[in-house]
Amino acid sequence: MKRVSPQFVVQVAVPSPLRRTFDYLPSPEHPLPQPGCRVKVSFGRQQLTGLVTGLCSESDVPAEKLRPLVAILDEEPLLDEHLLALYRWASNYYLFPLGLALQTALPKQLREGLTCTLAAPMAWQLAKTGNDGVPHKVRSDTHQQILALLASYQALTTKELSALLSKPVSTALRTLQKKGWVEAVALSAAAVTTAQLAEPPLIPDAEQAVALSVLRTTKPGFHCFLLEGITGSGKTEIYLQLIHDMLTRGKQVLVLVPEINLTPQTIDRFSRRFNARIVAFHSGLTDKQRLQGWLEARDGSAHIVIGTRSAVFTPLAKLGLIVIDEEHDDSYKQQDGFRYSARDVAIYRANMLKIPVLLGSATPSLESLHSALSGRFQLLSLTQRAGNANVPTIRMLDLKMQKTQAGISELLLAEITATLSKREQVLIFLNRRGFAPVLLCRDCGWIAHCDRCERSYTLHQHPAQLRCHHCDAQRPVPRQCPACRSPALEAMGLGTERSSGYLAEQFPDFPVLRIDRDSTRAAGKLDNMMATIHSGIPCILVGTQMLAKGHHFPRVSLVAVLDADSGLFSADFRAQENLGQLLTQVAGRAGRSDIHGQVLVQTYHPNHPALQQLIAHGYGSFARQLLQERQQGHLPPYVHFMLVRAEAGQPHLPLDFLRELAGQLLQDAPRELKLFGPMPSPFLKKAGVFRAQLVLQAPKRSTLQKLGSTLQNLLETNSLNRKVRALVDVDPIDFS
Ligand code: ADP
Ligand code: ZN
Ligand code: ZN
Repeated sequence: MKRVSPQFVVQVAVPSPLRRTFDYLPSPEHPLPQPGCRVKVSFGRQQLTGLVTGLCSESDVPAEKLRPLVAILDEEPLLDEHLLALYRWASNYYLFPLGLALQTALPKQLREGLTCTLAAPMAWQLAKTGNDGVPHKVRSDTHQQILALLASYQALTTKELSALLSKPVSTALRTLQKKGWVEAVALSAAAVTTAQLAEPPLIPDAEQAVALSVLRTTKPGFHCFLLEGITGSGKTEIYLQLIHDMLTRGKQVLVLVPEINLTPQTIDRFSRRFNARIVAFHSGLTDKQRLQGWLEARDGSAHIVIGTRSAVFTPLAKLGLIVIDEEHDDSYKQQDGFRYSARDVAIYRANMLKIPVLLGSATPSLESLHSALSGRFQLLSLTQRAGNANVPTIRMLDLKMQKTQAGISELLLAEITATLSKREQVLIFLNRRGFAPVLLCRDCGWIAHCDRCERSYTLHQHPAQLRCHHCDAQRPVPRQCPACRSPALEAMGLGTERSSGYLAEQFPDFPVLRIDRDSTRAAGKLDNMMATIHSGIPCILVGTQMLAKGHHFPRVSLVAVLDADSGLFSADFRAQENLGQLLTQVAGRAGRSDIHGQVLVQTYHPNHPALQQLIAHGYGSFARQLLQERQQGHLPPYVHFMLVRAEAGQPHLPLDFLRELAGQLLQDAPRELKLFGPMPSPFLKKAGVFRAQLVLQAPKRSTLQKLGSTLQNLLETNSLNRKVRALVDVDPIDFS
């Protein structure tokens, strides 16, 4: 380690909104901290935990003003050069302060400056002293079971053993250790034979075989593959086989999944296949477990890391492949603070490391599809369902001809009855939770609405409440109209509570499971409902997009979409893309085994060209058509956007702020830059704050990137800077 030489200055990223690193003097008694180590520093009046990003020989700050480091927290860098460079890039690209960006993805204990010597995770294995198999002398059942498990799994942690046996095992393990039958080894050193599968792979069908052979024969290095495969076509099987290749080469694999998909079933599918250490970052982890997983990934002892968005920043010593499942999913884009796209960061990371990245989806985003069609990504297709499953038939049901109750038409009711009597399951999709989106006074037209957002309250029944879905404000349901005192208040429109309630009345002999954010909030609720569904008994599921994604429900043979129309006439240019993805994904839940599936789509607009195209020709051709429209309309992915949003307590301030900004930006803007706005945001007022936006558009990303620092300076020096909160969203997907 280098000794301190007096001219060195340590650059530190601290969690502060200021867009720069800060210089500190190393302390003469300690070795110089390397980039990637955490340090404690004085910052204003506080002490903060920061991360060393570099060392340099001089500082802009006069030497006598530089403060010394308070403490060095890590002897070895916590983040390696590569990960630091990734953070640096993301901080630049998304115009977000490096110190804060670094904070968002570190486990809590590390952010808070606690020490992090990895309590080397211990695993148990059979002692190598020639005791083959399970000795007869062992009398205790628990002891026998433990030895049998270790014989077949090679190495297991205490926790895994106790989970497999559903009982505590610590005492038994200690006894076995004393007797010399088992030994504890560091997990990274455990003889886990990752090359050997726990469960045999499926035999690839013709299309899978083609995709796999392309993946396997591509030269090493950075490649981005887009696996466009219809729902149930066996994409996951391809991930699993490719992951296995990597494990046999001693590489680690990072698998990103959308927020909703990281269910026990997903993790199960991976654990069943591999003899490997799998770390899954899900919301149910304690801080301690999260830290442990992070450290295991970092030192290479975890073989597979599965996680949602923020897992893209996990340190991985031997990363060899990144898989992004359901790559089109909006949850990959963070919508507040550090507004990064995990998909794009993952692609950048793979590029830096010269490794492949595999994106998969039945409904690829138009961005990725465009990259694939223009040759930047390699396109792989699966057009058939795997195994014995068939593609479901999709029919539109014209609501103009039908009587409905709680959103269910008579024809749909008859189909539900028929399906249940065949002892199959029904899935009803309605992307709105609560009982009804509007509470209206029949006599004077008053509508219960949230003053802070100027939007109607949603009526909920369990518990009875008016709730604003935009700011979470809640209030009791009035018994009479506050404006005219009439008792004639009526719930208008549909929510999952209303439709599921009606179905429960109609089908008292069958379970009706409502699956949305409200009904699954309590821990274990979703798991319980999933257990019912997977038990295979005939039942009705009513749910929001939580149900649409990724789930494999083999007994569902009827899927109904109650209302397909909301996305058809939206002003948002991404609405049709999203509608197409959602409908296709929901439809994909039908007929995923050998029972035939059908999908009914209720609509008042069966002749709408977008719906027609989607249903007659499928998402692939629908999306290609949308791409043409985007090209003609000069919309992403053919151009790039940066959105500046301004928010303030008074209505005129955000617009004034943005007008000043737009004027300054145009003064010496490159010719390719176009500005749209300033204009009030479509969602004008949210939680009491007024909003406006300015959109910057250019044909190339680089044009916008070059403007980044100018833009940030202008935001900071705006004359209304103190009264207006401004934020920049690079590659925005939310234009509300
Ligand atoms: P996707 O990820 O595209 O939705 P999955 O990989 O989940 O598809 O596969 C859907 C179903 O088909 C699963 O039950 C899976 O076990 C089965 N399956 C996949 N590939 C094959 C294959 N080659 N032979 C038989 N069954 C397969
Ligand atoms: Zn009234
Ligand atoms: Zn509100």
